[in-house]
Amino acid sequence: MKLYSIKDHAETVSFAQAVKQGLGKNQGLFFPSEINPIDDIDALLEMNLVDRSRVILQSLIGDEFSEQELHDIVATAFNFPAPVIKINDKISALELFHGPTLAFKDFGGRFMAQCLLRLSFDKKGNGDKITILTATSGDTGAAVAHAFYGMDNIDVVVMYPKGKISFLQEQMFCTLGGNIRTIAIDGDFDACQALMKRSFDDEELRQAIGLNSANSINISRLMAQICYYFEAFAQLPKAQRAQTVVSVPSGNFGNLTAGLLAKTLGLPVKRFIAATNINDTVPRYLASGEWDPKATQATLSNAMDVSVPSNWPRIEELARVKGWDLSELASDFVSDEDTKQAVAALDEQGYLCEPHGAIAYDCLTAQLSEDEFGLFLCTAHPAKFKESVEEILGRDIGLPQELADCADKPNLSIDMANDFAALRAFLMA
Ligand SMILES: *Cc1c(COP(=O)(O)O)cnc(C)c1O
Repeated sequence: MKLYSIKDHAETVSFAQAVKQGLGKNQGLFFPSEINPIDDIDALLEMNLVDRSRVILQSLIGDEFSEQELHDIVATAFNFPAPVIKINDKISALELFHGPTLAFKDFGGRFMAQCLLRLSFDKKGNGDKITILTATSGDTGAAVAHAFYGMDNIDVVVMYPKGKISFLQEQMFCTLGGNIRTIAIDGDFDACQALMKRSFDDEELRQAIGLNSANSINISRLMAQICYYFEAFAQLPKAQRAQTVVSVPSGNFGNLTAGLLAKTLGLPVKRFIAATNINDTVPRYLASGEWDPKATQATLSNAMDVSVPSNWPRIEELARVKGWDLSELASDFVSDEDTKQAVAALDEQGYLCEPHGAIAYDCLTAQLSEDEFGLFLCTAHPAKFKESVEEILGRDIGLPQELADCADKPNLSIDMANDFAALRAFLMA
């Protein structure tokens, strides 16, 4: 597989290089040189998750992994289901939160970890030490930390905005210890992303600690996410597929990028809706043509509190390559007030949902036409946002075992100012 940097099309890399480097020069995002539609989508949709995902990923990655290797990677990474749940006659939910950290980021995190392990070390574990540096607005941290936890020769450092993620989100990755270190940054998520980008620009630092990114900018994460769109359509009645609109709760827009790539590969998605909270840079841009990010605001859907979405340039690039008019991409933003109402409306239909999924549901109900069916992505388990959900619904929703287990453990994070020099010193130590 060949990829090029969006910043400089002459900078090309293999899949292995793209996974290991994360970003190209000048923070350029890697993008596939070729995305060929897959033949016989109907047959593909008859296969099981692991076999089908192996075929999809092989069509993208090519021969950099053997069939057997890629099968093993996928079987290890995707060892949990992604069920489609019917909400009513028109609308279904795709539950992406049945992995170990109860959020959709387990798909990308686990696939990337398995790829990196095989690309960086031989079967005996020989190879240069790697440091995974990642910034999280909530769920990436947990997914990445768990995906790499206990791997020899791989250190993980996770930065997150102090006080801006939920208690349980924080407990899930700040209590692991071992090869996982966590830093609470005095700033918002965009500040954490800026620190990360500066680290990658620092060639000396990069070399010294074998810096690698596990953020949603890593192309392997997006490729893993393509697979669950196919898994969702495999579960939909055949007659509904081509009339199905998919609503994606979006922050950094990795999830939507993966969906658009799935459509490019031939999945018959009728159209997508980019759903955001009031951090609405993209809906405003699609309406006005003006890219005008505002200061990030805290919301109930904190994993989407992003005003400069890092994957957006990939969507622009895909549209350019495919000749799509992006102003045709549906989008909307949802206030906290309407998010609460959507959580309550879903509850009335017997479906417990947290704020991120509820935002996608809200946009669907607002925009779905007579002849369409809707699918919204549920990106996290409701219990991950227990405090908000219980306040909205006025009742206790309980905790699954995974969360109950980590709730009482000590938080091992260190605090740090929003200061690159301090981060650099910490990483070099
Ligand atoms: C990360 C995250 C999102 C946003 O996904 P992007 O790919 O960054 O757009 C939505 N919901 C939850 C629960 C998340 O953790």
